[in-house]
Amino acid sequence: MPSYTAPVKDMQFILHDVLKLSQSDVPGFDELDADFTGAILEEAGKIAGEVLAPLNAVGDREGCRLENGVVYTPTGFKAAFDKMREGGWTGLDCDPEYGGQGMPHVLATATGEFFTGANMAFTMYQGLTHGAYSAIHAHGTDAQKAKWLPRMVTCEWTGTMNLTEPQCGTDLGMMRTKAEPQENGTYRITGQKIFISAGEHDMSENIIHLVLAKIPGGPEGIKGVSLFIVPKFLVDDEGQIGARNGVSVGNIEEKMGIHGNATCVMNYDGAEGYLLGEEHKGMCAMFTMMNEARLGVGMQGLAVAEAAYQNALDYAKDRLQGRAITGAENKDGPADPIIVHPDIRRSLMDQKSFAEGGRAFALWGAEMIDRSHRAGDAEAEGMISLLTPVLKGFLTDEGFDMAVLAQQVYGGHGYIEEHGMSQFARDARIAMIYEGANGVQALDLVGRKLAANGGKPAMAFFEMVKTFCKENAGDAEFDTAFLEPLKTASKHLQEAAMYFMQNGMKNPNHALAGSYDFMHLFGHVCLGLMWSKMALAAKAKLAEGAPDAAFYETKIATGRYYMARRLPATSMHLARISSGADTVMALDAANF
Ligand SMILES: Cc1cc2nc3c(=O)[nH]c(=O)nc-3n(C[C@H](O)[C@H](O)[C@H](O)COP(=O)(O)OP(=O)(O)OC[C@H]3O[C@@H](n4cnc5c(N)ncnc54)[C@H](O)[C@@H]3O)c2cc1C
Repeated sequence: MPSYTAPVKDMQFILHDVLKLSQSDVPGFDELDADFTGAILEEAGKIAGEVLAPLNAVGDREGCRLENGVVYTPTGFKAAFDKMREGGWTGLDCDPEYGGQGMPHVLATATGEFFTGANMAFTMYQGLTHGAYSAIHAHGTDAQKAKWLPRMVTCEWTGTMNLTEPQCGTDLGMMRTKAEPQENGTYRITGQKIFISAGEHDMSENIIHLVLAKIPGGPEGIKGVSLFIVPKFLVDDEGQIGARNGVSVGNIEEKMGIHGNATCVMNYDGAEGYLLGEEHKGMCAMFTMMNEARLGVGMQGLAVAEAAYQNALDYAKDRLQGRAITGAENKDGPADPIIVHPDIRRSLMDQKSFAEGGRAFALWGAEMIDRSHRAGDAEAEGMISLLTPVLKGFLTDEGFDMAVLAQQVYGGHGYIEEHGMSQFARDARIAMIYEGANGVQALDLVGRKLAANGGKPAMAFFEMVKTFCKENAGDAEFDTAFLEPLKTASKHLQEAAMYFMQNGMKNPNHALAGSYDFMHLFGHVCLGLMWSKMALAAKAKLAEGAPDAAFYETKIATGRYYMARRLPATSMHLARISSGADTVMALDAANF
């Protein structure tokens, strides 16, 4: 079965040598010195490797069971969830006022990668709770926060997000679930939600559902949607759990992956609910936590890719097939390990350069979320808003591709279940779909984010890359390997944006037909920037004679690979974008 080792050293390198967290002016970051984060990451890594990873295949094999309205999670999940609670891992970046530890989001993102890489389906129970916590924290009244948050921080009560219905997923304006106001100020929620992750399970004493619903008589479409807190069990003013509310699980879905997470049909039959935020402003309430939630899903892509890569690497060193084209390397053995073959190397380098580059990108995103929340930095807020669809769409698409590459390293042994490699591909697949399907992320990027605020965040991004290249030029080797390719890629991104500006007004199809390519073009530029920064940091460490030179040399070599072999994808994306919508839209629907 696959194993998982948390990439603590790499995480430390990004946090301290690249992002230089403890030198930052963001409130709370001064506490994050290397000793402190090192201790936390080591501990999180231990739980990930020793407790969660061994349950990953168990969850996949057993799945969840629905019996008489109760959902049973796979063997061992409940005990592991207790361990997470006892260790305080569920409230790491939650508000101390409600029992959290008040750590920056960037640290929770780092530990979150470990937990997710070890066991994505398991970690989702906690992830969904954190999403619901954030929504209540941002929009709840003081009384609501005091009532619900403390036990969500500890995950004694878990949370869910209920948006999707059979007839509406992306287009939530078609929602039918109703919320009827009652004289006592509560609402009666009636309707059916589908595909609700962690909707019902046996690991917590209560489940706090956040449900989008329409108040009768409100505005049509998406403007008439409000958000409600709907607990599985009612809770009195003293915090005591009381009667069962009118919400029940109708079914659990059979699905491709994340079998350990219960994906539920939830039926609301006049359930008691409490308005969260303002009437008809449900989508705004959801959007405030969108950056965080989407970054979390982007992280799933890269976390699973890292786990799959680690196992593919071990296998490539172990599996003997064929001889190195340049002469046998394992002369005493019957064949060489497959890692000698250039095509296996290409695959491993693709995986490694994505996982490490993606990690830096995701942590930079989390740092911007902290910067905007803790320091009220509007520029960081604009930038993370722009980059959120890129983080979500690019990291999950690539994460899945890399999990498939890792599976391919195993040949037929990757396709059968014995080695557990198909689980990585199957689990990674959902991240491309939920939390806004990736096609819709691309639409959001090109249709909204690019032009948001007069295009200021996009201009700031281009300017940032330009300044970085200018300030760090001068070393011929670094310029050629990193800065020149980065400049070219960034130029492609600007040309693509310009194409949309010049042609999108005339015919919006020209913009939207290129949106998916634009999201990937943008993702590559971001990883190109991350690799340039990492190479620069590694160069500095080598220059100061830091121990473990091999780590820094490997960093630079991996970065050179990304810049030479992956980044040129930007010209293909630009060529596709510049060809416009004509060939895309040429056929009548009837002629397909
Ligand atoms: C395992 C699992 C867990 C989930 N967990 C949750 C959960 O916890 N809570 C929850 O509320 N939901 C959840 N979902 C639902 C998920 O978020 C939706 O499936 C997703 O948002 C897409 O909606 P849909 O399936 O209705 O697809 P549709 O909206 O019907 O979209 C179908 C396709 O059309 C594309 N598309 C749609 N509109 C446009 C457009 N305007 N332009 C271009 N392309 C478009 C989409 O990209 C997609 O490829 C989960 C789903 C699964 C499978």
